[in-house]
Amino acid sequence: MLYEISEKAIQLENQGKEIIKFNLGDPDLPTPPEIIEAAYDAMKQGKTKYSSAAGEKVLREELAKIHDVPVENVVVTTGSKWGIFSLLFLTLKPGDNIVVPSPHWTSYALGAKKVGAEIRLLKRDLESDWSIDPEKLEALIDDKTKMIFLNSPNNPTSKVIDDKTFREIVEIAKSKGVKVMSDEVYSDISFVKAKSILDFGDENILVSGFSKTFLMTGWRIGYVVAEKELVKQMIKLNQITTTCVPAFIQYGALKGLESRQKIADDIRNQFKLRAEAAYSVLSKSPMKFSKPDAPFYLFPKVDGLDSERFALDLLDHGVAVAPGTAFGDYREFFRIALTAGEDKIKEGLEKICEALP
Ligand code: PMP
Repeated sequence: MLYEISEKAIQLENQGKEIIKFNLGDPDLPTPPEIIEAAYDAMKQGKTKYSSAAGEKVLREELAKIHDVPVENVVVTTGSKWGIFSLLFLTLKPGDNIVVPSPHWTSYALGAKKVGAEIRLLKRDLESDWSIDPEKLEALIDDKTKMIFLNSPNNPTSKVIDDKTFREIVEIAKSKGVKVMSDEVYSDISFVKAKSILDFGDENILVSGFSKTFLMTGWRIGYVVAEKELVKQMIKLNQITTTCVPAFIQYGALKGLESRQKIADDIRNQFKLRAEAAYSVLSKSPMKFSKPDAPFYLFPKVDGLDSERFALDLLDHGVAVAPGTAFGDYREFFRIALTAGEDKIKEGLEKICEALP
């Protein structure tokens, strides 16, 4: 359905219609120029050959320093998406399962399915502000469970898992002998402080990337921090599949890390203004939603809505959104990605309000 909406939006644009695109988690802001310059310099210096499947030494070392782990625990991947798929591929056999609080990012479910595993969803609701009930999560774990997937801040709700719940989940995982995979791609730009899985020790798995913090979605670079044996297997998988993330891209990413704080602050501030602008329009509408803790998404609910039908019809009003069904059993919800300037956000949201059934 997400694909159908993207395609229809492009078709309409090709016919000369203007579409305000709130359907993808791809920020409109450009990659910071210093990152582009660093990648270009690296290309000019010949960093255009095959490189290490583990990642460039300097980048791995910098990531290891940031996360305070040995360098052997870090592997650079072709986007965090490939990191996540590698983990699924390497740790699950057909018949195994992962436990995932829902709503959740589509790729977890599709990736698990591809390797023949089951995804067990813990349904959360807006009424409890998307909180996770650790007891209910624990009840989903059985002897076929290999991992619990957490995503804080979350796509699509933009909510952060509170410290107490995070800790309880880590303890449950430990007592059951399963790993936590924590997808923290939105963490550095979160409006509120988000705990990292690494704050609770080093036996679990961190997945992160450069797409969101450094506006580098199209560059395809992410990384995983995990135990050494698993990292070794991931490096081997890189060797037989993607070979490496192009070295010049890694030098761009390294430059980003040098100004990590400043770049993340800038992005956070811009998205905070957008979230506030969106909040003021939506709070006058009949939509129910939770205040976002992070960029880029709002996940409102309209009672009785068929969001798939609504998302398709909305395209004729010039706005693209993602239906809630793309993130689990959430037909009355839809996801708005605030990936346009403030004026466009206001215009797009007003169009959404007008189009509501
Ligand atoms: N995790 C989540 C929760 C995401 O929303 C996304 C991108 N939409 C990714 C991972 C993938 O990011 P990357 O570009 O690093 O593959």
